[in-house]
Amino acid sequence: MRDHLEDKRAFDRDAIVYRRLGKARHDFRGLAKELLLKTRAKNITDRVSSPHTTMTLAVLDVDHPKCWLLCSYCGGRNGNGITCEGCSGCGYKLNRMEIPKSQQSTNT
Ligand SMILES: [Zn+2]
Repeated sequence: MRDHLEDKRAFDRDAIVYRRLGKARHDFRGLAKELLLKTRAKNITDRVSSPHTTMTLAVLDVDHPKCWLLCSYCGGRNGNGITCEGCSGCGYKLNRMEIPKSQQSTNT
């Protein structure tokens, strides 16, 4: 995917940040994931919205940069300061890790 980006600067910076935060993200995921999944399951059952839980889960589930996708709007043609409503001009989209079925809903 990276090779298809016209301007690779944002991708390279994001990939470096992703790598440098690897241990912290792993540790935080280990501490927070179960609580967040239980909270989300309760929210679904109670039909309530919980933006903090939703956003925090999304952050924890960002997949490795090798799995990020070219923007389907601009196809990675993000050079010369071009903005895109699909990617805000970076040329790519983050991908979320698959959540194992065993973790998708928990009781309690
Ligand atoms: Zn785009």
